[in-house]
Amino acid sequence: MQRFWYKCIDCGEVYDGSERIYFCPRCGGLLDIEYEYDPDASLTPWSKSFRERPLGVWRYRELLPITGLEKVVTMNEGGTRLIRCKNLERELGIREIYVKYEGDNPTGSFKDRGMTVGVTKALEVRAKTTICASTGNTSSSLAAYSARAGLDCVVLVPSQKIALGKLSQALIHGARVLAVKGSFDDSLRLVEEISRDPRFYLLNSINPFRLEGQKTAAYEIYEQLGDVPDKLIIPVGNAGNIVAYWKGFRELKMLKLVDRLPNMIGVQALGASPIYKAFIKGSDRLEPMDSVETVATAIRIGNPVNWKRALRAARETGGMIGIASDEEILRAQKTLAAREGIFVEPAGAAPIALLAKAAREGLIERDSKVVCIATGHGLKDPNVVLMNVEKPLEVEADIESVLKVLGMTSIEKT
Ligand SMILES: *Cc1c(COP(=O)(O)O)cnc(C)c1O
Ligand SMILES: [Zn+2]
Repeated sequence: MQRFWYKCIDCGEVYDGSERIYFCPRCGGLLDIEYEYDPDASLTPWSKSFRERPLGVWRYRELLPITGLEKVVTMNEGGTRLIRCKNLERELGIREIYVKYEGDNPTGSFKDRGMTVGVTKALEVRAKTTICASTGNTSSSLAAYSARAGLDCVVLVPSQKIALGKLSQALIHGARVLAVKGSFDDSLRLVEEISRDPRFYLLNSINPFRLEGQKTAAYEIYEQLGDVPDKLIIPVGNAGNIVAYWKGFRELKMLKLVDRLPNMIGVQALGASPIYKAFIKGSDRLEPMDSVETVATAIRIGNPVNWKRALRAARETGGMIGIASDEEILRAQKTLAAREGIFVEPAGAAPIALLAKAAREGLIERDSKVVCIATGHGLKDPNVVLMNVEKPLEVEADIESVLKVLGMTSIEKT
């Protein structure tokens, strides 16, 4: 295992990796995890021993902040499919389009990549109870990994605003689910307060260990493509995931495996777009949005924790933060399902929505290699689908009725 430490993203102070802190004790800034990156060390990933392990988060264990594999809480997360989308390529006139299908993860979203590391940490620090605020998928994942680790789990979700699939997962895995009469941002404030009590271990995306697990998706893309893509398009809520990918790609560069980074392109929902607003203003300040609304509940966040680094990721890589309306998101969800056979929840379709728009406006070079991150499985949120498709037609149980509905008069026999 590599030696690692915390580094404050604001004041640069470093702290020992064994300390149990979520924010910089000096200035309150977010913390990043750093390692000794030695491209020549034998432990460097992608050495021979590395390639013998299955694709997934723990293939990259030497670049993860865990000091003993025995206790790792895992269900073989990661190793998700990178699916080429030839029909979309033809329709949008882009040379290569891939979807990284994070719905393949154990609980159906990318959150599992972070939770396998984060819940292992909770065991390491001997917490009794894990806790998070969640728009849905974080609670599904935390509930499952906590169950496996034998830890109690408390999740705070905004009442009424959580997708059915996600809620049922948290409940069946035995979490105590509290429906807070307020927004996600209210819930986050509450769990930060409670987790000052050492019995609780906080697993929101301020927890830097989660982002370490999530960065492995960038490594996987590099291995699956044999290169980094030209553009990476990813939905942005709290903005932990875009920061995690950015870190993963930067590490590949530090390890001298690649010599460039993809343009990091984040997508927010029109009704929850504070980072987009800061981006187009060229501002270094975030103005939180008090009321947010979008069908893409996973990115329905008005005061994103990781906004600062998300802006840097977009700006420093020549990328951008864009937006998609609910209508565009739902259309992209349908297109991806109907044209490519890939079913994602609304937030997971936001990158396709942005790509379609950007391609039409000529903002994406035609010979680009584009990877869209499909962050969560479509079955997470069945209600939103049923509200936006035609209902099944009811027919009498006889062949004439069926033929009539299908516009046929008779069956042609061969
Ligand atoms: C959590 C989540 C997001 C947003 O990720 P952030 O790290 O908060 O930006 C997007 N899509 C899905 C499906 C999610 O579960
Ligand atoms: Zn600091």
